[in-house]
Amino acid sequence: MPTISRRGFLSHAIAGVAATPRSTAAQAARTRLILLGTGGGPRPRKGSSAPAQVIVSNNVAYVIDCGDGVARQMAFAGIPLDTLRHIFITHQHSDHNADYGNLIWLAWTAGLSTRVDAWGPPPLEKMTRLFFEMNAYDINTRISNEGRVPIAPLVHAHEIGKDGAVMSDDNLKVSAALVDHPPVVPAFAFRFDARDRSIVISGDTAPSDNLVRLARGADVLVHSVMFPAAIDRLVGRVPKATALKESILAHQTSAADAGRIAQAAGVKTLVLSHFVPADDPQITDQMWIEAAQSRFRGTVILGRDLLEI
Ligand SMILES: [Zn+2]
Repeated sequence: MPTISRRGFLSHAIAGVAATPRSTAAQAARTRLILLGTGGGPRPRKGSSAPAQVIVSNNVAYVIDCGDGVARQMAFAGIPLDTLRHIFITHQHSDHNADYGNLIWLAWTAGLSTRVDAWGPPPLEKMTRLFFEMNAYDINTRISNEGRVPIAPLVHAHEIGKDGAVMSDDNLKVSAALVDHPPVVPAFAFRFDARDRSIVISGDTAPSDNLVRLARGADVLVHSVMFPAAIDRLVGRVPKATALKESILAHQTSAADAGRIAQAAGVKTLVLSHFVPADDPQITDQMWIEAAQSRFRGTVILGRDLLEI
């Protein structure tokens, strides 16, 4: 059964490039997926950044979720911040949106001067407007002092509330499906269909039939995962959250169920990400992989920050 750890994946990928050389143009056209942050939950950790991904197609960056540190993770990934064009927020939880405004604001200081469209559940429009209002002092200072273009007119926030087509351009067609992440409503998964591959990002969800439909036949499914046996230890480390265990168990998917979802959808590759818990040394890489493989016959990749897939 194919398993690819990070190290194994890199050597595999390098070998693949060496064995099948492609033209520079073909490589440039390839749609890239980079995991920017793979730890679930908003609590800052040493070992992994908060949830975020970037898809790069023809040097255009599409960022999915904006957990803490997303702008810096873009820098680590070598993705120029001024190529930011679209942002998709799966749901309004702080591990997915804490740096939504910061990503745009900091990208602007790195030279972003072109349109950005942001897509996500309400109250995205209000969040966008208030973010620029909150930071008006710095923004106005840089406009007058550094000659920056005004930032607010660049950003167009679009609230989405239902399944279906979100946007499309020359590179990608994006569609959304409602997933099951109580009490956060709506919460979405997104599918990105490019010319060369299809990529689905689950967001946070309990096992979801709607996600199975969205992901049908996709090349890559990035699915959030939890390890139920470790939740008691996780909850024990987090003070002042008396209902956290029930909440996690009700609105997340186990790695085994993520495998079942991937199998039902018929995807080629399942990428485990948004690990809950993200930092429990008793849960080894192999345990995550074996849980997913127990229900899935395709390729399982253990997600890691800055891993390109
Ligand atoms: Zn969430």
